[in-house]
This record gives sequence, structure tokens and C-alpha cells, in this order.
Amino acid sequence: MDKQQEFVLRTIEERGVKFIRLWFTDVAGTLKSVAVAPAEVEGAFAEGIGFDGSAIEGLARTSEADMLAMPDPSTFQILPWRGTVDPAARMFCDIATPDGKPANADPRNVLRRALDKAAKMGFSFYVHPEIEFYLLKGTELGPDGQPVPVDNAGYFDNVPGGTAHDFRRRAVTMLEQLGISVEFSHHEGGPGQNEIDLRYADALSMADNIMTFRTVIKEVAIEQGVYATFMPKPFTNHPGSGMHTHFSLFEGDRNAFFDAAAPYHLSIVARQFIAGILKHAPELTLVTNQYVNSYKRLWGGGEAPSYVSWGHNNRSALIRVPLHKPEKSQSTRIEYRAMDSAANPYLAYALLLSAGLKGIEEGYELGAETEDDVWSLSDMERRAMGIESLPQSLDHAIRKLETSDLAAEVLGESVFSYVLANKRNEWAQYRSQVTPFEIEQNLRTL
Ligand code: GLN
Ligand code: MG
Ligand code: MG
Ligand code: MG
Repeated sequence: MDKQQEFVLRTIEERGVKFIRLWFTDVAGTLKSVAVAPAEVEGAFAEGIGFDGSAIEGLARTSEADMLAMPDPSTFQILPWRGTVDPAARMFCDIATPDGKPANADPRNVLRRALDKAAKMGFSFYVHPEIEFYLLKGTELGPDGQPVPVDNAGYFDNVPGGTAHDFRRRAVTMLEQLGISVEFSHHEGGPGQNEIDLRYADALSMADNIMTFRTVIKEVAIEQGVYATFMPKPFTNHPGSGMHTHFSLFEGDRNAFFDAAAPYHLSIVARQFIAGILKHAPELTLVTNQYVNSYKRLWGGGEAPSYVSWGHNNRSALIRVPLHKPEKSQSTRIEYRAMDSAANPYLAYALLLSAGLKGIEEGYELGAETEDDVWSLSDMERRAMGIESLPQSLDHAIRKLETSDLAAEVLGESVFSYVLANKRNEWAQYRSQVTPFEIEQNLRTL
């Protein structure tokens, strides 16, 4: 047994932990949990805990149903919302096949493979997300048929006595107790909409942190008698919930994106990385924006990006390069603005990192930045400037992913085909719906 495993066993004993939840994430990005008794943990470290993988979305075909959850002791944390009486803890797991090999369809393993590739090129990959979500009074709809937000406040509003203020304080405290550092939190543009920005971490820890974050936010909401949703676009007339994500590559202690002499301090590596993401963004959008509803956000205004472009101070751009003082070379980074709060972070990071690395490997040239607000241009002007669109619907995104060699390679056969089948199914169901829009437009006039 290694030191970390010993530490976990000792902590369980000392703190009187009664339940140890083993967490992992399915291909769709849903957190799964199985609780084991303290006496089982030592065995789980040695041999894993067996479960039926075919019952988990995308994890295994029925013929290879047996899977093992192998707890990662570095992720051990006591769950603060379970209280101090009979405490519960959690560990994230890697999924293995019965012969002990990493399972191809484990999203954590997909990300590990992409990170290994980066490491071979000499890079470690750091990320920090800005996570937006709505707080609603509940899941019941209001008389107007829309969800009911907890307040009517807007961007950066301080709401005296408001739910959101208390909510953020409670959520941030709980996240810190779980070892997740929060950098900013504020009210966002929509009524009841909030944003919490996490301090940067390596991509694997951050993907775990995002899964934990969603759980914490949902738990705190329940505790406060409200409901939190990460749905990308719950309101037609208010902004969607994005998960802008900042990326940087480090070579040892040095930020590989920084070059003091270059425009915006962007090194050649950074420029090639941006070019890689821009080139492959449309084909990866099915994963970064995985629901029918995600496309209502991307094409619904509210500062969500719809076009493939980059800029240093352009909030309609897909990639924004935040400016910083040259002495803060460590904070050189790029912000990817398409991803939404309902993405599977393991798969999204694996793909975006790989797209960026491809740009470096193949020496992609970065085109000119877009100064104009790309929204105010006409389709013809955009085409003349070579500005491509992101997919406009789930269907469009499926067609793009289908043709992606990069995604097939990075996700691996089983995840790639599962994602496509799953999303084709969602699209087929959606396509057959007669919507209120059509009734309103057509029933009385046709
Ligand atoms: N909510 C916007 C989006 O969907 C972002 C708003 C902002 O943070 N500037 O991306
Ligand atoms: Mg922000
Ligand atoms: Mg925001
Ligand atoms: Mg942002």
C-alpha cells in the first residue's frame, strides 16, 4: 500500500467516516456514485470494486459488462454537506476492465491519455473555468411557462438580503472545505444567474473539481430551498450559462504561452495552440456543447460565441486572449468561450488540448485576430474574411464530429461511436417534436 492509501485509511479511522462514496463519470458527463463501508476500502485499493458496466451510459457493451472502480486516494475528501455525525467521504475512481487495464470508455482515462501525450511533448496543461448557472425557485414553471428565477438582479449586482448572496457564500465555503479554491463569484447577467470561477489547476484535478462543483451547487441549493440548473439555455430571453475556460501550457515552471517580445505576449507555441483549437473547434462542438439546448445558447446572443474567431478584447470571439502585465508572465493564457456548463469536462479538455497540440505539432499558422464585433458583420462579410461558424444545431454538430479524425483518435473507438449514437438519438427525438413556436406561428394562420 502506498503513502496516500495509508493516509486515507488512517483518516477514515480517525474521523469515524462511515460511508465512502466511490465516484466516477459516465460518457454523458453524469456523476455516478457507489458507497462502500470503511472495511472495504483496503480491498478496493488492492483490487477495485466490481460493478456492472453495461448499466452505465456508454461505459461498456453488454458482452464486456464487468468493470472495476479503482479509487484514486489523492482525491479523498470528507463531504461537508453530510455533516459531522457519521461523516461521508468520497474518492474519484479510474475504471478498469477485469484484467486490470484502464477501460477505454472511462472519460478520466480519455483525459489521462491526452495529458500523457502533452507530457511526452514536454507540456503540462492547466485550466480554470468560469462556471455559470441559474438559481430557480424550484423546478415548477411559472404562469408564463418559463422557469422562475430566485431574483431579478443582473451582472455584478449586490442584492441585499438576496438568496444569491448567501448562496454563493455557503457554496464557496463548502468548495474550499473540499480543497477547491474559488477565485471570483458574482451575480451574472440573467435573473437568478450566478458565476463562480475556480482557481487554476491541472486539467485532471479540474475535471474532477467540476464534477464536485456541480454536486456542491445542487446540494447547497437544496439546503436553501432553491434549485440550481446548469442547463445551457433555460430562458429564451436571457443569456445562457457558459463555462468559459482558460488554458495554458507549462514547460516545467515556465509558462510556454509567454513571450515578452511578442504581441499580447503570445509565444509561437501559444499561437499554434490557438490555431489548432480554432481549426478543429467546429468538429469538437458536439462534445463541448452536447445538448439540443446548447445550440440555443450559442445562437441566442447574450455574449455567447457563434463564430470561429479570436481577439484580445473581443467578447464575441470564440477565443479571447486576456491581457496582463509582462511581469505576470505566469498568467499568460487563452479563454475558450464556447463550452457550456453541462459539458463532460474530461472529454472536452481531452479534445481541446489535443486540438491545440496538433496545432503545435503541425505548425499551424494563426490568422489575423478579429477586431470587429463579428456579430455586426453580414454573412457575406464574414465569409470574405474567412470566418467560419460553429455548428448551428445538434444535428450540424453531429455531422461535424462524424468526419473528425482527431476526435476519433482522442476519444477512442468506443466513446466516439457512443457519443454519436447517443446524440443521433437525441436529435431524432427532438426533430419529431411539434413545438409551441410552431403552434403559435402556424395554427391560426394556416
Ligand atoms: N453567459 C455568457 C455565455 O453564455 C457569458 C457572459 C459573460 O461572462 N461575459 O457565454
Ligand atoms: Mg467571468
Ligand atoms: Mg460570465
Ligand atoms: Mg469569461
